Amino acid sequence: MSLLAIFGNPVSHSISPRLHNAAMQSLGIKGCYIRHQIIEPTTLLSTFKKLQLNGANVTVPHKEAAFEQCDEVRGMAKKIGAVNTLVNENGKIIGYNTDASGFYESIKSFGSIKNALILGAGGTAKAIAVILKENNIKVTILNRSASRLDFFKENGFTCSDWESFTPSKYELIINTTSAGLKDEQYPLDKELLEKLFTQANFAYDVIYNKKTPFLALTDNHKITYKDGKDMLLYQAVLAFNLFFNNRFKLDSIEKSMRPIFEL
Ligand code: NDP
Repeated sequence: MSLLAIFGNPVSHSISPRLHNAAMQSLGIKGCYIRHQIIEPTTLLSTFKKLQLNGANVTVPHKEAAFEQCDEVRGMAKKIGAVNTLVNENGKIIGYNTDASGFYESIKSFGSIKNALILGAGGTAKAIAVILKENNIKVTILNRSASRLDFFKENGFTCSDWESFTPSKYELIINTTSAGLKDEQYPLDKELLEKLFTQANFAYDVIYNKKTPFLALTDNHKITYKDGKDMLLYQAVLAFNLFFNNRFKLDSIEKSMRPIFEL
């Protein structure tokens, strides 16, 4: 019997239990994936051990704390400094980041892309910037305030705040800010965004299940867009794959999870 969980604060809204429980059921695994709210980040690992979990996902605001507490961090998580997947490997807790690869998987349908503009400089922006750079896509970061740009400067990204920004031509524009999540705000001055969209081919909003003002603005332009649903789906597929030691084909995991979004 496998026991898995999502750690976060809040976690009540998380769709992860439905995705992972559907996959376990469809693939014939006896197990259960639960929600567990963690208020105090320092208790992440002790809670993981106390619940005797086989694996867990970590969501806002604990991804950096998870990175600090793992026995070992592997893959892309090392460069991002954030962990969203914990796997119990013979008593050792190994940390991974599947947000980054989940995002990259979700933009493969766009075809080859040479450069991208990321709006926002939080945890999600870090994961996306690192995976795009890893795949030879030139990345520019644009954030409202300068204070969050240090990580990107240190890692050699072109970056600026709203005041110092000089617009250029970007094939793909990605909104990683929370503007539009619970309000109708644009992540950037509307006129500037319109100008950037006139030269872009693709737009992506990591917010899912909503056509945000950012995405709605693409209607006036010849732009192919996506919301964050596939990123969420693929990060879950890749996490499930890690929980079960690559035992299943990725497309069969995907097939078992995708219908959850259509319910
Ligand atoms: P963070 O809190 O780490 O970062 C938020 C960023 O948004 C900051 O750069 C902040 O700028 C900027 N921002 C916030 N409000 C505004 C605004 N009104 N206008 C312009 N910029 C703004 O958040 P995360 O990176 O953790 O998450 C960001 C989004 O990604 C959330 O909406 C979350 O739901 C989504 N997400 C989706 C996933 C998926 O699988 N689809 C996975 C993970 C996250 P400043 O520094 O100036 O404050």
